[in-house]
Amino acid sequence: MSSRTVVVTGGAAGIGRGAVERFVAAGDRVVALDRDAAALDALAAELGELVTGRVVDVADRAALAAIATETGPVDALVCAAGVQRYGTVVDTPDAVYDEVMAVNVGGVFFACQAFVPKLPRGGSVVVVASVQAYAAQKSVAAYSMGKGALLSLVRAMAVDHAEEGIRVNAVCPGSVDTPMLRTSAAQFGGDRSTDDVVAEWGRSHPLGRVATPGEVAEVIYFLSSPAASFMTGADVKVDGGLTAG
Ligand code: NAD
Repeated sequence: MSSRTVVVTGGAAGIGRGAVERFVAAGDRVVALDRDAAALDALAAELGELVTGRVVDVADRAALAAIATETGPVDALVCAAGVQRYGTVVDTPDAVYDEVMAVNVGGVFFACQAFVPKLPRGGSVVVVASVQAYAAQKSVAAYSMGKGALLSLVRAMAVDHAEEGIRVNAVCPGSVDTPMLRTSAAQFGGDRSTDDVVAEWGRSHPLGRVATPGEVAEVIYFLSSPAASFMTGADVKVDGGLTAG
């Protein structure tokens, strides 16, 4: 496959960073969009000239549109930026609800609005949803709702853009060892070490552990590539069997 240009939101850390590394390993150019300027600088310094970092909040529709205008041809989009916030429908503060919807749902919608018009025939979008679109934990009402909305968006976009030859798919990870997961583990772990909490969460998956970002990135890479040429509107669980039981 010849070298492509891929836009990855949330590319500075976690699953998004894993995707950036996977595309770069294949010789692709990556435009990594993230609100964390320092992490973007570190990413570009580490991975070299194939990576361009752009600081943006994906909830900012106008800023995404401006970056899309300034960016040359794009072959694929990966939407990985997201936040994890906790609360039931009753005790979720308004500001938390607004943030989850703005970033996890609006951020994907706006990134697609900005970059899908640039995609060529054969182009592709991969959205990072979550198994929590299928099987909620306690106290993740807004997050679960948002991830479910992403699966509906993926199906709608798959239908809308099929005639243009653009494929749109989702990955639904179980627990993945990222800064997001470790922040949650530290928050809920009490006296236990973060490693112990992560290991315990891993044991809730039939494969007995959490995923690495690279394991999710491999599926993202596949879905974005011509190897997945007859896949569109799919949501692929990368969950170590969590939702199989
Ligand atoms: P992470 O927090 O480790 O990394 C997320 C990256 O996105 C960070 O670099 C962060 O700066 C960036 N980001 C967050 N909000 C942003 C915004 N408004 N604008 C621009 N950049 C922003 O998270 P992660 O664990 O890698 O999660 C990535 C995606 O995968 C999220 O959508 C998350 O919901 C989903 N997910 C994660 C897990 C998991 O266990 N880690 C499981 C299922 C789904």
